[in-house]
Amino acid sequence: MFLPEVKSQKDEDICILIRVENHSYNYICECGEATSLTVKECQNTKAIFISHTHIDHFVNFDTILRHQIGIKQRIIICGPKGITKQVQSRIQSYCWNLITEDAIIYEVREIQSQETIKKAELKPPFWEITPLEDTSPPTVYENELFEVTYTILDHKTETIAYLFKGRDKTKIDLQKGDFKGGKWVKDLKTAFETNDINASIDIEGNMYKASDLFHLIEVKKGKKLGVIMDHAASPSNHNNILTTFKDADQVFIESFYKIEDKEAAISNYHSYSSESGRIMKECLVKEAIPVHFSRKYNEIDIEELIKEFEHAYKE
Ligand SMILES: [Zn+2]
Ligand SMILES: [Zn+2]
Repeated sequence: MFLPEVKSQKDEDICILIRVENHSYNYICECGEATSLTVKECQNTKAIFISHTHIDHFVNFDTILRHQIGIKQRIIICGPKGITKQVQSRIQSYCWNLITEDAIIYEVREIQSQETIKKAELKPPFWEITPLEDTSPPTVYENELFEVTYTILDHKTETIAYLFKGRDKTKIDLQKGDFKGGKWVKDLKTAFETNDINASIDIEGNMYKASDLFHLIEVKKGKKLGVIMDHAASPSNHNNILTTFKDADQVFIESFYKIEDKEAAISNYHSYSSESGRIMKECLVKEAIPVHFSRKYNEIDIEELIKEFEHAYKE
């Protein structure tokens, strides 16, 4: 159901666009420079997820803002401690004397901890921070199709790793019973989803207890997509990654360095190829994709880095 696309080239900063099947909005993870991110993609974006605000993850926010101004929508921005002020500072550095008040609203969800998410909105022309009622974790964003939860990792600053999880879907398998379809199908699904086992279900004038029909229901599990950005390859980070991303279907994970540059990884609180691959293997992730490589590497280096990752992930 999630159709992610890395919008940044290998020599650009990281930016991942997530489209969702049968859904008109899309979602942006990380605001690194990505020249192939189009105006339309920015305008169709409903929420932006930022791991941390090192320049390589936040530099392209202005471009997205430039394309979104005037769309008259509420856009959600999720990020780590301090993100609200940083978004405000970026926006306030421009002159807004000609803007209309309804041009856009940014709603910022600032992740304080696993227990607290502060919420505020910023509107033109002054972009003051107006606090809103806090959101309740563990979900930082949700809609009718999926929800997004998170874990906080250490990169000498806090970085947020996000998990997108599609909602489970229920389907009635008519072949398992002797009934024809009808309104009862919807009633039974509702009873199942709300765990109302005693609900009465009317099938062609006959009344049944909902739980007696639950065997007709098939549950299709929602897909899980992870985005794990900059983090030290430390036991405590790996522990958090394991708890949050176990059995995920697809995960994008930073692999900033090659094994030979492990010392640089340690001093910069980054991960490196073999450790990113190893933790993805341990999480039993079905498809792990290494992203976000140091700019000092040429194409051959990156090929080697990806081989090191694959070796640790698949062997
Ligand atoms: Zn960083
Ligand atoms: Zn980075």
